Amino acid sequence: MNHQRVYLFREGNASMRDLLGGKGANLCEMTNIGLPVPPGFTITTAVCNQYYAEGGKLPDGLMDEMRVAVADVERLMERTFGGSSRPLLVSVRSGAKFSMPGMMDTVLNLGLNPTTIAALIQETGDERFVYDSYRRFIMMFSDVAFGLSKHGFDEKIFADFKRKVGAATDLDLTAAHLKEVCELFLAHVRTNAGREFPTDVWEQLALAVEAVFKSWHNDRAIVYRRTEKIPDEIGTAVNVQSMVYGNAGDDCGTGVAFTRDPSTGEKHLYGEYLMNAQGEDVVAGVRTPVPISELEKQNPSVFADFVRVCNLLEAHYKDMLDLEFTIEHGKLFMLQCRSGKRTGPAAVRAAVEMVHEGLITKEEAVNRVTGAHLDQLLHPRIDPAAIPGATLLATGLAASPGAAVGKAVFDANTAAELGGHGGAGQAVILVRDETNPDDVHGMLASKGVLTARGGKTSHAAVVARGFGIPCVAGAEALTVDVHSKRFTVGGTVVSEGDTITLDGSTGAVYLGALPLIEAEVSGHFGELMVWADSLRTLKVRTNADNPRDAQQAIEFGAEGIGLCRTEHMFFEADRLPLVQEMILTKDEAVRQQMLDRLQVVQQTDFEGIFDVMEGKPVTIRLIDPPLHEFLPNYDQLIRETTELKVRMDLGQSGLESQYAEKMKLLAEVEGMREANPMLGLRGVRLSIVFPGLVVMQTRAILQAAAKLIKQGKTVLPEIMIPLISHVNELKVVQSQLEAEARKVIAEQGVDIPYQFGTMIEIPRAALTSGEIAEYAQFFSFGTNDLTQTTFGYSRDDAEGKFLQRYVEQKILPRNPFETVDTTGVGRLMRLSVQEGRSARPGLKCGICGEHGGDPESIAFCHEIGLDYVSCSPFRVPIARLAAAQAAIRARMTVSTLDK
Ligand code: PEP
Ligand code: MG
Repeated sequence: MNHQRVYLFREGNASMRDLLGGKGANLCEMTNIGLPVPPGFTITTAVCNQYYAEGGKLPDGLMDEMRVAVADVERLMERTFGGSSRPLLVSVRSGAKFSMPGMMDTVLNLGLNPTTIAALIQETGDERFVYDSYRRFIMMFSDVAFGLSKHGFDEKIFADFKRKVGAATDLDLTAAHLKEVCELFLAHVRTNAGREFPTDVWEQLALAVEAVFKSWHNDRAIVYRRTEKIPDEIGTAVNVQSMVYGNAGDDCGTGVAFTRDPSTGEKHLYGEYLMNAQGEDVVAGVRTPVPISELEKQNPSVFADFVRVCNLLEAHYKDMLDLEFTIEHGKLFMLQCRSGKRTGPAAVRAAVEMVHEGLITKEEAVNRVTGAHLDQLLHPRIDPAAIPGATLLATGLAASPGAAVGKAVFDANTAAELGGHGGAGQAVILVRDETNPDDVHGMLASKGVLTARGGKTSHAAVVARGFGIPCVAGAEALTVDVHSKRFTVGGTVVSEGDTITLDGSTGAVYLGALPLIEAEVSGHFGELMVWADSLRTLKVRTNADNPRDAQQAIEFGAEGIGLCRTEHMFFEADRLPLVQEMILTKDEAVRQQMLDRLQVVQQTDFEGIFDVMEGKPVTIRLIDPPLHEFLPNYDQLIRETTELKVRMDLGQSGLESQYAEKMKLLAEVEGMREANPMLGLRGVRLSIVFPGLVVMQTRAILQAAAKLIKQGKTVLPEIMIPLISHVNELKVVQSQLEAEARKVIAEQGVDIPYQFGTMIEIPRAALTSGEIAEYAQFFSFGTNDLTQTTFGYSRDDAEGKFLQRYVEQKILPRNPFETVDTTGVGRLMRLSVQEGRSARPGLKCGICGEHGGDPESIAFCHEIGLDYVSCSPFRVPIARLAAAQAAIRARMTVSTLDK
């Protein structure tokens, strides 16, 4: 085992992300390729875990190792930590394997105390710069180490002071002013932290390192990890780096830049900087930064240097990068380099263009894009026809693409309460002056985010892009009043609950709800999908019950229908009464009449679907849900009859016949009630109890098919039986179905190439797949029910009642209704495929549960050799991509094994 706990930047490299975190590993890599990186070192993620294992204590000997590393930095910088001349100051930053905006903020200028302040003033002759650095240090350090909110310093003490002395911006303050501010800050610490601000630089360093470790388990970080599925066990590294100063004069500055546009992916430098400022000023949105293109005019030689570094880094990493830099007295320093967070459109465009530029292969391009990225491309946009008549309230920066309509809310907690992601499920838009990490939970619950301040690299913009939430940032015309829960713009007041529309692709903010339209697969997106299709072996079908959804799915690349839930057609307003009558009547003749009428409408539905899906397989499932789902609600009937009874008892007349009718219905509904309807009379059991249903649906399907075949179209119906647990159930239904099919074929005089298959959604069916495959020509895994019945969880109850807690407490690694439980449910699937194919070689197997659209589950489906996955139309492109990624991964595993 490797016991080295502290790595100098020259000792590591980019492959050491697990140990050094992303930031540390990349600082090492940049150092090694000769870029100007201020010297420093990284404390490993293993130390973070050790810190927690030892009950929250820095491991013995760590400080000694840090002293050795600091000595190295001192030598390189020709400075001394805590020294009375040429003092060394450092920054302390967290850095996990994956970038986590929810974690600790940076501490800059660590190492300042009365001795080093005096030394630095003497060295620079710039007292103002030194006290400016000191006030930042006190604030940042006290925030992370003592939990004293930055706002208490910045928005209260500092803002009040500026107002008192009449300073419009920080730059108007003199050295004496800033020195006074430092005294006020120190007094604030004394009163609120219950201790003096530390003057021992080693104590400062130890406390800051400890604060980074502690921040791994702060609420923001935990929420972020859960959302991004980052494991809790990996820990964070700590980076200690010598300071360079962007705030040491007018030839100094600091900025952030992306090597390509993170919103669109377009190949040009994109970013912002501020002269005479430190890093926090750019990201915090305190001063409005200047676009990076201005640097070319302001300082052409630094700009040229920066462009050279960007090109070198892109070619080295073969990726779009997010860079942080500082200019100190006209010299460029690189402080960070990481893979840039990007929107879906940017991810696709950059990946496709990098293939064209010869930087990466098509496989790499396909692997670079995630399902979540594509999801953003499938986001709706505002119908352009609606824009001319719309009320434009303001235009801000187009910070994260996509359009959103929702009710304005003004704080994160309200957004989390009312919005999605565990909230009440309403569409809300979070409106803030600017956001900070405490707002992340509210942003996640919102359809969109709108801020009045901040640039394209402000917190709101970066986080929204990361989560694929549309965002308009820096809409400066807005005056946001959080206390009164409203914003004003021009003469318009928008209060909490009023609806607004955002366009994160243009920056426009409109009053009211504008109509949105869906996305399409074209351009770079289309090109990437063609590559994905050439790489995958799994076919992708869709779950659709009507021609409109089927059409949408085809536009997204569906190769067939994997599940048409026929009962969805029963719920339409013109059919429900027929279905109810069919269920409730005791008269067989009436029941047959209702079935005949239903057959006509179902046939029309199937004709529409077959027409759209011409030449592609269409799997139609016979009726599945318990019949009471089609009847009036039992509890509601009880309420209604009780109410009528009370009114009658109180003497109201004329209610008798209504009451009698409702009581009759109540008795009938009661007769059909089941204790566990999900395990009751549903699926194939219904077809056996009501054989008329099988006959009616078979006839409707095959007559529709015959009609289209006669028009010269190719129709490939696959009739599927749900919820079987014993092969005998299948045999009974098959003989009913085939008898009817023979009749229709004879009547119609055409051959109809239909197939007969079954769903596998009960463990017993999976376990007896060999027997079942003798009768079924195909299997489709209904993993919703298979998960429900394997775990013994009622899906409707589990998700709301205990599953979330199970996942939080890590009793289950994840929600098995979202991602296939490969060890349990997946084992049944694997066995079922094997035994099914032993009995019937080449048996076609697919999946049609929700998991068919989940990338991880799709990878598993590839692994066990399914023929296709089927998912909702909007997940079809994501499934195509995931299927390609699974195929690439499998090929890579094989070729590694070959070696
Ligand atoms: C399933 O159980 O996975 C399935 C697709 O059927 P339903 O969700 O309609 O029960
Ligand atoms: Mg099912």
